[in-house]
Amino acid sequence: MITILSGGTGTPKLIQGIKEIYPEEEITVIVNTVENLYMSRGYIAADIDTVMYTFADMIDEEFWYGIKGDTFTVREQLIEMGTTELLKLGDKDRATKLQKAILLEEGWTLSEIVELQKSKLGIKAAIIPMSDEESEITIVTKEYGEIEFHDFLIKYQCKCEVLEVKYGNVPPSPKLIEAIEKSDKVIIGPSNPITSIRPIISIEGVEEALKGKDVIAVSPFIGKSAFSGPAGQFMNAFGYESSSIGVAEIYNPFLSKLVIDNQDAEYESEIEEIIPNVIVANTFMKTIEDKINLAKIVLE
Ligand code: GDP
Repeated sequence: MITILSGGTGTPKLIQGIKEIYPEEEITVIVNTVENLYMSRGYIAADIDTVMYTFADMIDEEFWYGIKGDTFTVREQLIEMGTTELLKLGDKDRATKLQKAILLEEGWTLSEIVELQKSKLGIKAAIIPMSDEESEITIVTKEYGEIEFHDFLIKYQCKCEVLEVKYGNVPPSPKLIEAIEKSDKVIIGPSNPITSIRPIISIEGVEEALKGKDVIAVSPFIGKSAFSGPAGQFMNAFGYESSSIGVAEIYNPFLSKLVIDNQDAEYESEIEEIIPNVIVANTFMKTIEDKINLAKIVLE
């Protein structure tokens, strides 16, 4: 049994490799929910949907968001009638999000809804939202003050100086702690350490549960830059270096091994002063072979 902690871009790429070589029914993925919100009458749990679509081989790999080959009939008709939505939702993907909103209104928990949706997609892996409670994430910026995370990403295209990242504490979803305790290995994929992984590990009981486990993480950085997205800006706001050294410091209390990229080999000994076990490998996942090779390393 393995448990993977995931956001919605870097770790799903690694999951594509893992699911090729490890029995799917023995995989549990705990997914960040801090960015969830209602938009366009749907409940947007972007990271959960990306993980589901990844297992179901439906993910749109251009954006790591939505379903490949989806149509946009509803969106086009809305625009035709004078309504433009901030989020570009495909028709099938919109159904996933509308169903979540409908069932939440009927009193289902998010865990129950994800269980239903992933089963309908034929997914054997367990997919667990980190919490069933609503949380909120805001970014304090130099230019615009405190703004919503989605506005930071979409409206302002991450082009602001980040001073602070704020999110509240939420309780764990019912199966979260047990999933970690039961697993032989915990894999922290190359997700954003501040907005995707830290919200999971700051949930009560998670860090304690991780401390007794074989925990391996893959760094989402090469040198001082993230492979993609705003992780570097967030690391700096929390006082960490935007690099694998900063990642090692954040995960230090519970991490057994850290995988860093070949291009960061020169930092291996410096990082080993923080995390004794460092593996240097290709962590740039462009092809399915890259993903499987990295999966083999983290599963070893
Ligand atoms: P989000 O929920 O969309 O923010 O996605 P995640 O938090 O799951 O992933 C974002 C992180 O993935 C970024 O910090 C990237 O640096 C990292 N990432 C994306 N592609 C790769 C890759 O091929 N290799 C590695 N090591 N990291 C990657």
